[in-house]
Amino acid sequence: MQEDKQSLIRMLLSAEGFSVIAGPCTIESRDSLDEIASALKDLGIKFLRGGAYKMRTSPHSFRGLGDIALSYLKEIGERYDLITVSECTDVRKVDLMADYIDVFLIGTRNMNNYPLLEDIGKTQKPVILKRGMSATYEEWLQSAEYLSTNGNDKLILCERGIRTFETHTRNTFDISAIPAVKALSGYPIVVDPSHSTGTRNYVKAISWAAVAAGANGLMIETHLNPDQSVCDSEQAVSIKDLSEIIKPIEEMRRLLLP
Ligand code: PEP
Ligand code: MN
Repeated sequence: MQEDKQSLIRMLLSAEGFSVIAGPCTIESRDSLDEIASALKDLGIKFLRGGAYKMRTSPHSFRGLGDIALSYLKEIGERYDLITVSECTDVRKVDLMADYIDVFLIGTRNMNNYPLLEDIGKTQKPVILKRGMSATYEEWLQSAEYLSTNGNDKLILCERGIRTFETHTRNTFDISAIPAVKALSGYPIVVDPSHSTGTRNYVKAISWAAVAAGANGLMIETHLNPDQSVCDSEQAVSIKDLSEIIKPIEEMRRLLLP
């Protein structure tokens, strides 16, 4: 298992590899996390995402179960041999999270939180750095340097859509970021089609476009009952939708990519 885990993490960190990360926006309960993890495992997914601390735009929205959710993630990740990914939102939680999760996620709202980047940099754990919603490529890569200059070059970048004048979608997916940022940095890039679109019906199209453009992975918010998702329900996909999305990916990559 340990060896397996290391090779999956090497795949996530490879600019040639491809990884699918799935799971709920926020961890809602131990039982629901267990159920989704089991379903993802059956689909062959290796990476489980789930938020313990949520950066909600409104302070009145549900902001996550907090520390207890980390213990659920660790327990359930171990039970199903899944690599766990979770967002760190606060410098005060870095050490705690490092004991509980496998991969740090830095959300769009914290791309410019330099003390957080520095502290996560010091952990030496793999980090997925999301693009700030209004960040240029250069600004995003400078944030990545806050991690690498603190000794952490286990970096994966994540395009999650940017703010434009279009309001139909939650954000505007910037497909150019995939080849551009890979060429500029050499880091692998994964795509989050869920926050890019905010709409579950568009997640498949954006996922496949990302694969064709050379993305190294997808992070897709997935829920057993998407409409009941406590957080980001409009964009959550079902297990069945997820299985349709991932089915042709290997073949697409074989046909399209060098
Ligand atoms: C998330 O991945 O749940 C999230 C909050 O994403 P973002 O930081 O891209 O809004
Ligand atoms: Mn979300």
